Amino acid sequence: MKRGFFGGTFNPPHLGHVRAAEAAARQLELESLCIIPAGTPPHKKLPDGSPTPEQRREMAELAFGSFSGLRLLDWELLRPGRSYTADTVERLLAEDPEGELWLLCGTDMFETLPHWYRGKWLLSVLHVAVYPREAGQEELIDELAERYRREYNARVRRIELTPTAVSSTLLRSLLREGKGAEYLPEPVYAYILKNRLYAVRPEPEALWKLAEGWYKPSRIPHVLGCRSEAVRLARRWGADPLDAETAAILHDITKKMPAEEQLRLCRERGTPVPDYRPELEAMLHAFSGAAAATLEFGVSPEVESAIRWHTTGRADMSLLEKIVWLADYIEPNRSTPGVDAVRAAAYKNLDEALTLALEHSLEYLEWKGFTPHPATREALAFLQRGETGR
Ligand code: ATP
Repeated sequence: MKRGFFGGTFNPPHLGHVRAAEAAARQLELESLCIIPAGTPPHKKLPDGSPTPEQRREMAELAFGSFSGLRLLDWELLRPGRSYTADTVERLLAEDPEGELWLLCGTDMFETLPHWYRGKWLLSVLHVAVYPREAGQEELIDELAERYRREYNARVRRIELTPTAVSSTLLRSLLREGKGAEYLPEPVYAYILKNRLYAVRPEPEALWKLAEGWYKPSRIPHVLGCRSEAVRLARRWGADPLDAETAAILHDITKKMPAEEQLRLCRERGTPVPDYRPELEAMLHAFSGAAAATLEFGVSPEVESAIRWHTTGRADMSLLEKIVWLADYIEPNRSTPGVDAVRAAAYKNLDEALTLALEHSLEYLEWKGFTPHPATREALAFLQRGETGR
């Protein structure tokens, strides 16, 4: 059987890995591809705060899941002590001693291969498929291949690949800055967000791609309006624009869910829900949306809180809470009576705008015969006392 194997720390697995493996599997016509996440790699220490081995295995499964003939092997993750490719290769060869076993590796690994533990033995028993990690490395690969053939009788084939210029190290730092999603398979990015790995901050466009399906199409213009308004307000008033954008993108995320499902999310997150009465139906999504934003998208406590209070408001709101509340109220698609006065005030005096909008909201609720949530009255009373907030 013609098998390939591809090992790496996969911390996290990225499109560089996936495209290289795809190209090798296609060009070599592999019948099976083993993905082998490394346990403790001999050549590098995993950075502090790295995902658990189980999380790296799950990410690898998400990244390579669509490959035909895929085997995800956790041998190195489970093996105590350091991971050596030689031990893995012995085990793979024992499974199929007559077969052809291909090691997939990039130029960086290929350059050091003879110096790995039992490297010369590896070169004698394996076939090696090498692809460039950076543009223009073809000549280097061919020269090394020629040398290894001469010196070790190695069997090497160069894989044609337009490299994706990224490494897991670079990605980990991009993710902390709210960047890098374009280098990750979408399910891996979603997993990183959900589990808050690498101190990730969501990248708005990638977050929107994941969140969009949660909304009814008719709600999308409102969410996008709120998103841009929240960013404008955050810039105007010195809040974090990325937090504001994240909260706005997710603020109505559970709106189309049945109430039962929303209550389940709140229970799972431990979000207290006010006594459930018919008039609270309209605000339940704020509580459940905050829970979903945390459970599914791993948002920060500040963003969770801004989503949680975006409908009712509350006394002593944080700057981010005020911004998301107001963005929801004044975004360009809104045509509530009196909204223009709030719009004008929002860029001059945030608390005045909020006071005006809360007054309008309470009047409207009373006119409709709804009992407002007590937090809305408390929000207004707090502002009317002239207190400025958190
Ligand atoms: P780190 O930045 O943490 O060192 P890495 O991105 O180099 O990680 P590893 O998991 O250590 O990834 O590498 C596993 C294998 O993937 C190696 O053979 C390496 O050459 C290859 N590889 C890594 N990045 C790329 C890339 N962008 N394109 C092609 N191959 C890659």
